[in-house]
Amino acid sequence: MALEERRKIVAGNWKMHKSIGEALSFVKDLIDSLSGLPRPSAVEVFLSVPFTALHAVACYTATSSLVIGAQNMHDATEGAYTGEISAAQLIDAGASFVLLGHSERRAQFFEDPAFIGRKLRRALSKGLQPILCIGESLEEREAGRIEQVLASQLIAALEGVDAVSASKIILAYEPVWAIGTGRSATPKQAEEAHAFCRSTLVGLLGVAAQVIPILYGGSVRFDNALQFLSQPNIDGVLVGGAALEVETFFQIISSYWEYELL
Ligand code: PEP
Repeated sequence: MALEERRKIVAGNWKMHKSIGEALSFVKDLIDSLSGLPRPSAVEVFLSVPFTALHAVACYTATSSLVIGAQNMHDATEGAYTGEISAAQLIDAGASFVLLGHSERRAQFFEDPAFIGRKLRRALSKGLQPILCIGESLEEREAGRIEQVLASQLIAALEGVDAVSASKIILAYEPVWAIGTGRSATPKQAEEAHAFCRSTLVGLLGVAAQVIPILYGGSVRFDNALQFLSQPNIDGVLVGGAALEVETFFQIISSYWEYELL
């Protein structure tokens, strides 16, 4: 499938940043900036906001093109899980999507691949679009284990997912060593990993997996975003640090908008 036939997405992940007021001020300014583009863009803009700001931001942006989501969820439908949140609660608060398997969740909160797989199936069954994050550590890359790691993360997450449901998934390839370090993958490194993910997805799910957008994440900035989008298997970016300020996030969105004109 050609690049232009797949969805193109710029997604921001605010992590544990922003009060409700700061979040509302951000989306107001972002909507103003987007409305100043000479023509609408085909690029979809996602924002993964803290739970506390989810409802307010979802209400404020309801008539805009922004897609609002959360950063995590539990796989159970409800129950005695103090401090956790369910897919249904996220939807109730206005989320359309949820990040799953971010490397910070895997490393700092010991989320194992089977748990992430259960969350993914739960999100799909509730109609919440998952952005599944996968990626290798520096040690794994240096040991030549990139493909093994990516394949095993994909296999664990996609177990029991049928091809029709899988077409709702968005994948994010985020090499752990590139997240928040200022050291992004090169476009070539990212493209190689994306091509491998694409062929693994097709192997696991069949041709329906051709529609799954694969985003690159890891120190994306205004000055490198375009180099990623111009790769055939990269359908967008997942942005952490540069998504915290409207100006830097909008610069990335506009670089994609300019790319559409080429
Ligand atoms: C992320 O948190 O998913 C991320 C890619 O962060 P950063 O852009 O800051 O590397």
